[in-house]
Amino acid sequence: MENRAVPRFWREIPQRYSIIGNQCGVCKKFYFPPRESCPFCRRKSIGKMETKKLKGKGTVVTYSIVHDAPDQFEGQAPYPIAIIELDEGPHLTAQIVDCNVDDIKIGMKVESTFRKIQEDGYMGAIYYGYKFKPVG
Ligand SMILES: [Zn+2]
Repeated sequence: MENRAVPRFWREIPQRYSIIGNQCGVCKKFYFPPRESCPFCRRKSIGKMETKKLKGKGTVVTYSIVHDAPDQFEGQAPYPIAIIELDEGPHLTAQIVDCNVDDIKIGMKVESTFRKIQEDGYMGAIYYGYKFKPVG
């Protein structure tokens, strides 16, 4: 899937714009971020870890509302940060967007979306990465 229109920077760090995990070929468990070997199967799984693009859909397990944002997030607070269980099983932490802080709920279905993460005023660089938004 080589795309010459995409700057080299992005092609070199696929985890930033897709949710790339891997799957154990023995027990079929998914991991994100990818792991060298499956902690359940140990040696049996070496050489059997297969890279997988995760669908980016999941459920809010728990969340908190951030009121004091770090500098690069100023202007966005308050915003929710959630632990999300992906449909494939791994958990990850992400900011929830397009959701009022009063509307976020445990058990809510969410999906990944690619948004501006940080803007570096001095260099003018803008970083994108995954965030999650409510489904539907
Ligand atoms: Zn395994």
